[in-house]
Amino acid sequence: MAVPKKKTSKSRRNMRRSHDGVVAHAHNECPNCGEMKRPHHVCGSCGHYDGREVVASEAA
Ligand SMILES: [Zn+2]
Repeated sequence: MAVPKKKTSKSRRNMRRSHDGVVAHAHNECPNCGEMKRPHHVCGSCGHYDGREVVASEAA
C-alpha cells in the first residue's frame, strides 16, 4: 500500500479543502407551472420540458 512520505501540512490540507464547499443546485422557475425546477431537467411538478408535456402528470 502506498504511504505518504511527508505529513500533509495544515496549509496543504486547507488548500485541498478550498474546493470542498457545498454549493446549492441551480434552480429556475418552470415557465408552465411556476414551480422551481433545475435547468435542462423535466419539471418535477408538471412534467413539462421545452414548452410541452414530456412526462404524463397524475391529473391528466
Ligand atoms: Zn412545471
